Amino acid sequence: MPLLSLDDVTLRYSSSGTAAVDRLSLAVEPGEVLALLGPSGCGKTTTLRLVAGFERPNSGTVTLDGRTLASPGAFVPSEQRSVGMVFQDYALFPHLSVVENVAFGLTAMPRQEARARASNMLKLFGLEGFESRMPHALSGGQQQRVALARALAPGPRVLLLDEPFSSLDSALRASTRMEVRRVLKSLGATVMLVTHDQQEAMAFADRLAVMRAGQVEQVGTPEAVYATPRTAFVAYFLGGTNLLPGVGFGNGARTLLGILPVTGAPAKGNVLLSLRPEAMRLVPDTDGVALGGALRAEVLAREFQGPSAEFTVACNGLELTVRGAPDLPLRAGDRARLEVVGRAMVLEDIPD
Ligand code: ADP
Repeated sequence: MPLLSLDDVTLRYSSSGTAAVDRLSLAVEPGEVLALLGPSGCGKTTTLRLVAGFERPNSGTVTLDGRTLASPGAFVPSEQRSVGMVFQDYALFPHLSVVENVAFGLTAMPRQEARARASNMLKLFGLEGFESRMPHALSGGQQQRVALARALAPGPRVLLLDEPFSSLDSALRASTRMEVRRVLKSLGATVMLVTHDQQEAMAFADRLAVMRAGQVEQVGTPEAVYATPRTAFVAYFLGGTNLLPGVGFGNGARTLLGILPVTGAPAKGNVLLSLRPEAMRLVPDTDGVALGGALRAEVLAREFQGPSAEFTVACNGLELTVRGAPDLPLRAGDRARLEVVGRAMVLEDIPD
């Protein structure tokens, strides 16, 4: 049984406008971290706001732990939903100390108990000893952990995070999200987060929901969505890819790169294939002779990316992106040999 579900939910900000969230259905399991991932404007924040109770859907139902939060005939106000929320800018109260910020939502508890609970939450997030600090005297990463502690202190049924790591610099971001994930998992928290950062979503979430134009295009574990994107949009958004047409015959397809092994739906007739940049290998070609199954290619551009380099190559009338080792001695204008070493994925899109 999912803990949180949205069923066929639509929200229009104006009666004549397009739907920001369009007949969206999504379920979050208890203890799960689910990331809403997609480009700017696809409706991620609106989805989060519908769960928080900041927006009222035009149609559809939002249910949390068996209780209807929003439906055509019902609407539970935000403060009665048992939903915790952390905003992008953390929104700490500047005039309250760290412990007072965290204890703020614990009004039903005696003061001493609330402070003890707040201190415990701070301890979980590695902020022991910071109780009496004021928010302005904390680093960005510390402020973010205080905001998380504050949202979790009242024991919400679900925690909503809006771009939680986007204000942190990239070095801090990776270590912080790992630490935050560890704490959330230790608490068994059910989390829905919004991000446009595919790496963050893949590293932080148990499952991803890739959104496009107000709808969920694909849901699954990061591994499954990456390995088997259903559409070109998902393949592009999660990791980048090469699209090429082919004529399928079961588990293979004829393409401009030759016959490629394929996965996904059985290939039949004209199909559109996704071939990831790491599914090909490049080697320098000094004598202009293609060996074995390798194809001739010309390097058009190279982009150094640290642990790898991305090469744009022309090959058999196609322009392809290929990932290679950063020390691969290939530059724009060089000849290379290209070999397909991975499988192509059959997409649901109809080829032009
Ligand atoms: P995302 O979080 O994926 O960037 P949003 O949910 O913020 O997307 O926005 C979805 C769509 O709704 C966009 O077209 C955006 O311009 C529109 N929108 C968002 N908030 C409002 C608002 N308060 N009033 C009118 N339109 C809005």
